[in-house]
Amino acid sequence: MNTSPQLSPHFSLREFTASATADRLNIDNSLPATLQDNATHTCEQLEKIRAILGNNPLIITSGWRTPALNKVVGGSASSDHATARAVDIRCPKFGTARTIARTLAASDIEFDQLILESPTLPSAWVHIGFRKGANRRQVLTKFAGDKTYYAGLK
Ligand SMILES: [Zn+2]
Repeated sequence: MNTSPQLSPHFSLREFTASATADRLNIDNSLPATLQDNATHTCEQLEKIRAILGNNPLIITSGWRTPALNKVVGGSASSDHATARAVDIRCPKFGTARTIARTLAASDIEFDQLILESPTLPSAWVHIGFRKGANRRQVLTKFAGDKTYYAGLK
């Protein structure tokens, strides 16, 4: 039975904080109460994304990261994951990460950064972050093994 509280109709706190890396390294990745509002807002945006992607199940491959976890996964110190304002998602029933990125970039959804990550790998994913009231709607591409963020979808 899933007893994890819901952050929004389709997204639970467990999905938002789950991390195989944190489990393996015994890092406590629980969400601080001070970030609950950010997490809820992020999941409300995910509901809109889920609808845009044909109501197909969205897989959160990384949501909240405690600073210790963010460091071991190589996330930037200013990562929006560390403030519960960003998620990495896949939606295999809808399409590839590139198709998802293109669809969201063309939609009217308000986001801060949309990043097509590692598009040449089978594990490609989409990073999307939300800064309520300050969304820049930046669209970027980042390739595996390359630290550069390229403007647009490459
Ligand atoms: Zn990310």
